[in-house]
Amino acid sequence: MNDVIIIGGGPGGSTVAALMAARGRRVILLEREHFPRFHIGESLLPYNWPIFEELGVLPALEAAGFPRKTGAQFHLGDGRKSLKLVFREGRFTEQPQTFQVERSIFDHMLLRNAAAKGAAVREGWQFQRFEQLPDRVRVNATDPQGAQHTLEGRYLVDASGRGNVTGNQEGLRVIHPKLKKMAIFGHFNGVMRDEGEKGGDTVVVRLADKWFWLIPVSATKVSVGCVLDAKELAAAKTSPEVLFHQIVATSPVLCERMKDAQLVGEFRTTSDFSYYNRRLTGPRLLRVGDAAGFMDPIFSAGVYLAMFSGKLAAETIDACLYRPFGTRWRFAHYERKTFRALRFYWEMVEQYYTKPFMELFLEPREKWSLPAAVNAALAGELTGRWAIHWRMRLFFWLVKLQARRPIVPRIRFD
Ligand SMILES: Cc1cc2nc3c(=O)[nH]c(=O)nc-3n(C[C@H](O)[C@H](O)[C@H](O)COP(=O)(O)OP(=O)(O)OC[C@H]3O[C@@H](n4cnc5c(N)ncnc54)[C@H](O)[C@@H]3O)c2cc1C
Repeated sequence: MNDVIIIGGGPGGSTVAALMAARGRRVILLEREHFPRFHIGESLLPYNWPIFEELGVLPALEAAGFPRKTGAQFHLGDGRKSLKLVFREGRFTEQPQTFQVERSIFDHMLLRNAAAKGAAVREGWQFQRFEQLPDRVRVNATDPQGAQHTLEGRYLVDASGRGNVTGNQEGLRVIHPKLKKMAIFGHFNGVMRDEGEKGGDTVVVRLADKWFWLIPVSATKVSVGCVLDAKELAAAKTSPEVLFHQIVATSPVLCERMKDAQLVGEFRTTSDFSYYNRRLTGPRLLRVGDAAGFMDPIFSAGVYLAMFSGKLAAETIDACLYRPFGTRWRFAHYERKTFRALRFYWEMVEQYYTKPFMELFLEPREKWSLPAAVNAALAGELTGRWAIHWRMRLFFWLVKLQARRPIVPRIRFD
């Protein structure tokens, strides 16, 4: 029997598969697509780096020539204010750099690595349902020819991303009541980049109720996307592409960067990406990455959270296979840790859409090393270090104070 069945071959599923197979566990991974396939989510976080090392993929990622990301920039759309963050300058930030990636290539590398470590990777296989038995899980899936199969394993990992297959089967998905957002995006050549190291930064341009990302994904291509209220497209009664260009035209910062931009391929859209599942575990099931939950891409944390929870899931299941007593306690620990990481980013995202947050965020004061704590948090520092924790609590409290009595100048979105 399989030790673990994994649904989904994105970064979360590949991480679990590679780490468990490397420990000699029998792993089968079902992926409904054939790789390489397009995926959005191209800006990684520095704290991904040690996971790349552990997976043994760092040399291949370095050889692939992905742009290096050493910082992130946040600009107001009118260019009046900006913040340029450099990870290595953060006192608490232990990882100074990461990559910006084309996900079709990156995900394929991670999946091949899982197979090379010994995981049985089945592409074109679609998970249908699972059934919980006392000592195992039973999974129904269809192969690329449409034939039905029943597989059994000691444990099941749902890494199906926004497919959220087991959460949907159990009716656990909770959609964020306020953040009903969508994204319009594409890849472009000819987008203006900064000189030198800063040319690898993620650039975020904030407008009143929407924002843009600009992420260099190769020597020539930049991923550009707009996150906006889903109802705005419906009200605009125009195509996503036209609306995208109309919004770009409202911002001098975007006009400048996009003046010579040419679309490569097609415009794409996606929506309803802020949700979580009420439970992240079942008796023999762990949900990782987006199949646990996801909240707005503003802080580029999705891939990191998928790999962070994937690593934790692999360690948890491996320990349970080694010593079955204490499974409930280990699963509860997994759920607590993963929820804590998700909650942290949810709070950051909810705050990000408020004006007082932007006012303080764009006007960092060197007091109490608050900017250093924010720097570490945005790099992916999730270990819960007290030095960062209390500073982030204070920062959020100051945001509340700023809403009532300004401690830094107000900003206007014109
Ligand atoms: C607009 C937008 C922008 C984003 N930008 C960023 C960013 O800049 N940086 C970042 O880190 N994150 C970003 N994200 C988030 C990021 O895309 C995800 O968090 C990340 O891909 C999650 O990885 P995963 O392995 O959990 O899921 P995925 O990468 O989605 O992988 C899940 C896999 O499961 C497979 N699958 C689904 N259903 C089934 C089934 N029934 N049977 C078999 N296989 C199945 C899918 O084909 C897929 O390959 C963004 C998200 C959005 C919506």
